[in-house]
Amino acid sequence: MSEPVSIAVVGSGYVGLVAAVCFAEIGHNVVCVDNDERKIDLLRNGGIPIHEDFLPELLARHRNGKLKFSTDLKAATHDAQAIFVAVGTPQSASGNADLSYVDAVASEIARSLNNYKVIVEKSTVPVYTNEWVRRTIERNGIQRSEFDVASNPEFLREGTAVIDFLHPDRIVVGADSPRAAELLRAVYYPLTSGEYYTLDTSFPGSKSKENPPPILLTSTKAAELIKHASNAFLAMKISFINAVANICEAADASVQEVALGMGLDKRIGSQFLRAGIGYGGSCFPKDVAAFRYVAEQLGVEFNLLKEVEEINAQQKIRFFQKVRSALWTFRGKRLAVLGLAFKGGTDDVRESPAFDIIKMLLHEGCTIRAYDPAATDRSKEMLPPSKSLEYVDDPYAAASDADALLILSDWSDFGQLDLDKLHYTLRYPIVIDGRNLYDPDEMASKGFTYLSVGRPSVHSTRDGVMQDSAQRKRIV
Ligand code: NAD
Repeated sequence: MSEPVSIAVVGSGYVGLVAAVCFAEIGHNVVCVDNDERKIDLLRNGGIPIHEDFLPELLARHRNGKLKFSTDLKAATHDAQAIFVAVGTPQSASGNADLSYVDAVASEIARSLNNYKVIVEKSTVPVYTNEWVRRTIERNGIQRSEFDVASNPEFLREGTAVIDFLHPDRIVVGADSPRAAELLRAVYYPLTSGEYYTLDTSFPGSKSKENPPPILLTSTKAAELIKHASNAFLAMKISFINAVANICEAADASVQEVALGMGLDKRIGSQFLRAGIGYGGSCFPKDVAAFRYVAEQLGVEFNLLKEVEEINAQQKIRFFQKVRSALWTFRGKRLAVLGLAFKGGTDDVRESPAFDIIKMLLHEGCTIRAYDPAATDRSKEMLPPSKSLEYVDDPYAAASDADALLILSDWSDFGQLDLDKLHYTLRYPIVIDGRNLYDPDEMASKGFTYLSVGRPSVHSTRDGVMQDSAQRKRIV
């Protein structure tokens, strides 16, 4: 492949680690840095700190070859031409992004700088961060000619991160100097030229030699804004369909049919039109808040984003009320919960809506048995097991003798349960599905009372299916 670039990636979390292995995969020499010694030890010894499809294969392929791990930023960046900063940017108390990790890394880079390098913001940061990084480095005595700061926001999704990285819809590079732009072009050349996709060993996906991803060169500020605006827009789409789902519930219509009809319009598109219990995770909640804060700071009212947040918060409460409507009272009820991660396919539980719902139910006196295919260990750190909360290793163990089963994450396995087994495992055949994984008619025909989001509830009778009607709701 084309000329390899020497790269350091600072921060080896969900983004940094995936970026590092993928940079190695497309031919570059990479050192992945983290100040968490345990994580680096684990990675050096063949361990994998996060659940992400294809990450084990890629790590096995490149560890000790094109990919090295280090806790020593100075040594790791010594030979690097580009330093990608992929540390966390959590939400601060004011709603703004807490940039202290980025600040700390910028100072450390400045103290280690030995020749010209491009410092690349991979973390999601508010507009103008590049200027602060530049100033921080200059304050440490480094000449402007010895470095550039660029922005290369990351759009990968947890659960499909490796494929998203290697087959991106677009690569955004914000650079205010031609030298920095050229280096970043070289970094992504194996993808943008299509070269990577011709290799026998390449991971298949939506891009190919004939249809490589485009690279969009912008100003650094525009690139910073593209990331915040994209995440805020996607969160808005989710809140929009959740609000529509609430109207569908009131009108006894199916939000799935409505979303299908909307999504077939190319101007709207079908993605992110899945009603549920609201968005969560380490990105959307904090990025919407940070974008709103940025707008405020710049004197722009962006009240739409307040509404996006409000609908999202309400969606969890509505689900909780739905559980109440199925169970009547809470105290002493035993519930099965499937799904703790903020979505299927990941072990990430940051800002998971499942936790908010579990906490509300525990507060009301329920006992819960919870199962998640990958997120149990992280969940135990957030919400330790107790008399009222047990973590189990199997969905049917969670369901055993439970008064109802709640589906809170969209793991594909949860949509393929053995319904007959589930029926006799539960104490009462009640399923309250926050992710719309089942067909209501099928659930009713299998003997379940089934409540989902934005679709008519169905109640089983042994003799057949009884749909909720507006009249029935009024009687209840
Ligand atoms: P993370 O918490 O998983 O990883 C951050 C890593 O940085 C941790 O391993 C931490 O130990 C390390 N770190 C912190 N300070 C350091 C320092 N001074 N030196 C070296 N390492 C340090 O975070 P993440 O989910 O990978 O997110 C990173 C950034 O990428 C955030 O800005 C996030 O908004 C953005 N992002 C995340 C996703 C996602 O799906 N997680 C997607 C796109 C963008």
